[in-house]
Amino acid sequence: MASRRPDAGDRARRPGSTVRVSVVLRCRPLNANERAEKVPEVITVDEHARTMAVARGGAGTSTTNGGKRETSESKEFAFDDVFGTQSTQERVYDSAVRPMVKDVLEGMNCTVFAYGQTGTGKTHTMSGAHDAECDVLSSEAGVIPRAMSHIFEHLKSKELEHSVKVTYLELYNEKITDLLGASTDGTNATEHALMEDGKNGVVVKGLEEVYVGSTEEAFAVLNRGNALRKTEATDINAHSSRSHSVFSVTVHWTDVSPDGEEFVRTGKLNLVDLAGSENISRSGAKDKRAKEAGAINTSLVALGRVITALVDKSVHIPYRDSKLTRLLRDALGGKSRTCIIATVSPASHSVEETLSTLEYAHRAKNIKNSPVVNGKKSKSDFLNEMQRCIEHLQADLLA
Ligand code: ADP
Ligand code: MG
Repeated sequence: MASRRPDAGDRARRPGSTVRVSVVLRCRPLNANERAEKVPEVITVDEHARTMAVARGGAGTSTTNGGKRETSESKEFAFDDVFGTQSTQERVYDSAVRPMVKDVLEGMNCTVFAYGQTGTGKTHTMSGAHDAECDVLSSEAGVIPRAMSHIFEHLKSKELEHSVKVTYLELYNEKITDLLGASTDGTNATEHALMEDGKNGVVVKGLEEVYVGSTEEAFAVLNRGNALRKTEATDINAHSSRSHSVFSVTVHWTDVSPDGEEFVRTGKLNLVDLAGSENISRSGAKDKRAKEAGAINTSLVALGRVITALVDKSVHIPYRDSKLTRLLRDALGGKSRTCIIATVSPASHSVEETLSTLEYAHRAKNIKNSPVVNGKKSKSDFLNEMQRCIEHLQADLLA
């Protein structure tokens, strides 16, 4: 289906222009257990009107407030797009993420967040069916393999000299570990520090950068990271519900100016699978498990505070309060373009979490970014920089 939104990318390329964060909602279908138990559904999706309504029983008057319509029977929210229980992975990619990747390939930085309660389809949306046996682009492939395929198809069709590198990190308990940098014993226990880098913003020290030459190679790297995530966790579900993962892709390509000078351009895409949003409400608990959850809340709570501060146009935006908000600062009120894919369950027993996700996502629509196209580098400067990088790495190895 064609995108019904105006392409914000063109507006963004005008200096000084701002672009709203794009916010889309996806509702998963009832699962087999819920169907067997005949769990009532409380979500109504109108894909044409781009609204999602939550039923809550009763009858009465109605009020309208900035894209949010409320009656005592239901609460309805309008978003940039909504995807019902039967929406395909392809439609979600084409509508929500394809425009972002197009901008990455024009030299911008873009971030896609998946936000929602555990079990609502964040990982399904971002990674999809990602078992090593699956085809790279089966109909169940999620945003990450589709984005990689889109990037390589573009680079090949334009016959551009290029390089594509990926990193994949996990943030658990305010510790960053490298999902691609397993040490010889097969663990990823090493913690990586965040460092302020005047030129590139915040960088993660010592993170493995893997160069990939095709969608298949990128898919294998994604699977390697996901497999490590599984073997590290003692309780996979608890771990994945409390950890954030960030898959980042940096694309460099060579372009030629009208006077024949070769220069290198850069675009970067961050694909973020956030911890379950229900973790926000556990922060008061005191036992060890909850304490761990509390530490993860640091990043999720900080994300909420940053969003509130941006929406309220506060003077101070508390980016420094967590690793996640430091790492993705540019995606929140900065120079990147951002899309939030919020996921919900249709089941009546999740209605409170669902309402809280819809309220959160609805507020985030008010965040404005000022995307810019990354500066071009002459090819010789770029090669010199790469050479210095290699020398640093060699020195690190010998140290
Ligand atoms: P989360 O990452 O938010 O905790 P998952 O992505 O692991 O949730 O999804 C939970 C379960 O629901 C998985 O078995 C997944 O395959 C299934 N699921 C989620 N979203 C959908 C969807 N849109 N269509 C079909 N199945 C889905
Ligand atoms: Mg998940």
